[in-house]
Amino acid sequence: MPLRPHRSLPLATPAGVEVLTRILTQGPIPRVEIARRTGLSQAAVTKAVAPLIEAGFVTDQPATPIEADNQLGIGRPVSPLTVVRNSVSVIGIKVTPTALIGVTTDFTAGILTVKHRPLKDPKPDSVIERLAELAKELMSDEVEAGPLIGIGVAVSGDVDARHGVVRHSPLMGWRDVSVADLLGSRLKVPILVTNDVRALTVAEQWFGVGVDADSFAVVTIGSGIGCGLYINGEVVSGAYGVSGELGHLPLAPGDLVCTCGRRGCVETVASSDAILARTRKTTRRRDLDLAGAIKLAHEGDEHAREAFDRAGEVIGSAVSAMVNLVGPELVVIAGEGVAEYDLYEERMRRAFAEHAFGAAGDCRLMLRSHTFDDWARGAAATVIRSYVRGEPPLQRSER
Ligand SMILES: [Zn+2]
Repeated sequence: MPLRPHRSLPLATPAGVEVLTRILTQGPIPRVEIARRTGLSQAAVTKAVAPLIEAGFVTDQPATPIEADNQLGIGRPVSPLTVVRNSVSVIGIKVTPTALIGVTTDFTAGILTVKHRPLKDPKPDSVIERLAELAKELMSDEVEAGPLIGIGVAVSGDVDARHGVVRHSPLMGWRDVSVADLLGSRLKVPILVTNDVRALTVAEQWFGVGVDADSFAVVTIGSGIGCGLYINGEVVSGAYGVSGELGHLPLAPGDLVCTCGRRGCVETVASSDAILARTRKTTRRRDLDLAGAIKLAHEGDEHAREAFDRAGEVIGSAVSAMVNLVGPELVVIAGEGVAEYDLYEERMRRAFAEHAFGAAGDCRLMLRSHTFDDWARGAAATVIRSYVRGEPPLQRSER
């Protein structure tokens, strides 16, 4: 991918942003439908679209006759608008304590290339070096997409996205790491640093369940328990940037200390490390790994089953607390591996049903497996959203 200055979007007005957002997330879509959904006049839609077509970001799909719109059976041909997928390219990287996962995507967050690189050392200096190497490798890939608009980096924990700083990531053992500055000075590309669960939520907002849902939550289960919230048309960060820290709700017994240093957090029972530690303790098998614990539970070992039951119970309670407070119409529960889903699911649903208040019990819980590539794609989706909205550090130069 050629490293050129990123292409500016010809979006002069908020209406232009709104129109491009509809085409990107809901396209192919006819102009008349954009007008209907946005409340803009058809003339305003046409005016906003023209420069996007001219600059090669949006195109008219070939006209297809639509259903007859009157009794004479005369249909008007409609040419829906669609984005030019390869008009730009985007890089997203997910950082974990043991690996970096990088993807290159097109304008619609469609994955073009994937690279996984193991990490020997999770310390910030070392990770920044490896991040820069991986980004350079991805940038030198030949992909059929336009210039790079930016690199998204997704990290767990408390991330100050505005300043590109990871304030505290218990999983990484990081405090106050200026990822955007450190990486940006090496790569000379706009860098956007984001909380990983929020990045996944942005991917769902624009390219997943959010296209059809007015509100939803994404709950991630794995080495940490996270939650992204999409409410009133926005992915919520909150005044402190840490909205949705489901894993640190105090719903577990207070006997265990969490990675965050507090007691009674959901993660002390429900994280994959907690499940493994519990199974090791109760089965007295110090050598067990997570795959072994899952296997034991599937074989019906009561100690292993109990560890997963406890996890399912506390996750279900945490999800019900979140749904009672916030009221999303849908909760996507995404796990890093599918193998153990059946081990939590029944307990989790039961605990949710027990604690959901009134009609909140109608909230749909959708279980879905996802891979580390999806986390990286989320980071790319965050870059795409900021690019379209003209937000820093991807703001358009003419602004
Ligand atoms: Zn905690």
